[in-house]
Amino acid sequence: LVVLENVNKHFGPLHVLQDINLSVRTGEVVVVIGPSGSGKSTLCRTINRLEPIDSGTITVSGEVLPEEGKGLARLRSEVGMVFQSFNLFAHKTILENVMLGPIKVRKEKSAVVRERAMALLTRVGVANQADKYPAQLSGGQQQRVAIARALAMQPKVMLFDEPTSALDPEMINEVLDVMTSLAGDGMTMIVVTHEMGFARRAANRVVFMADGQIVEQNTPEEFFTNPQSERAQDFLSKIL
Ligand code: ATP
Ligand code: MG
Repeated sequence: LVVLENVNKHFGPLHVLQDINLSVRTGEVVVVIGPSGSGKSTLCRTINRLEPIDSGTITVSGEVLPEEGKGLARLRSEVGMVFQSFNLFAHKTILENVMLGPIKVRKEKSAVVRERAMALLTRVGVANQADKYPAQLSGGQQQRVAIARALAMQPKVMLFDEPTSALDPEMINEVLDVMTSLAGDGMTMIVVTHEMGFARRAANRVVFMADGQIVEQNTPEEFFTNPQSERAQDFLSKIL
C-alpha cells in the first residue's frame, strides 16, 4: 500500500534519510523506533510530502506521490497524520474540527460529514465533548479528537509520530487503546513511538532506524528478544 524505494533526503550536509526501502502492506501495522535524530519524523513527513525528497520514489496505493498540484492534495488526504502536538483549531469546536477536512478538501455534504464525525467521536470516546473547544479538553481527549479528525478523511493509511509523548502518563493508555482498536480493525498504520508495550501488542513489524538508515526490521517478538545489530541491542538495553 505504501512503498518507499531508495529514498534519500538531505538537510544541507546531513544525509537524514539514506536509501530507505520500506514497503507496508494493506492492514499492516509497522512501528518505527530508534534513537533521537535518526530520521523517524522526517520519514513520516516525506510519506505525505510535508518534506520533499532528493531522490527515490514513494507510492501510495500504486500511485507515485507527485511533488505538487491537485494529485498531491488528493493523495495527501489518503494519508492521515497524527502528531505529538494535537494541532486542533482552537477557535473551532471539537465537532467542527473533525468536520472541516471532509467539507473543505473533499467538498462533501455537511449532513453526511456530521454523521460520520459523530460516529468517530463516539468511537474515540469523546462524543459528549462535541460542542466544546479544544482547550476545554484534556491532552488525551484532544489527541483522540486528532485521531478522529484524521479518520474523518477516510484515509488508506494512518501515520502517527509520537502521538503519546506530549501526554501525562495517565492519559497515554486511553490514546494507545484507540490506536490498538484501530489496528485490530485492519487499518494500515505506521507508528513512531517509544511505547514498547504498544509495539509488542499491536505491531506486525518493528522497523529500527539509526543515523538515517533502516538498520533492521523484524516481528516484535524477534526484535525485542533477539535484536541482530549492535545498534539495536544498545538501543534496547537503554530503554527496556
Ligand atoms: P526524535 O526521536 O528526537 O523525534 P527523529 O528520529 O524523529 O528524532 P528527525 O526529526 O527526523 O529525527 O530528525 C533527523 C535529523 O534531521 C536530526 O538531526 C534533525 O536535527 C535534522 N532535521 C530535522 N528537521 C530538520 C530541518 N527542517 N532542517 C534541518 N535539519 C533538520
Ligand atoms: Mg521525531
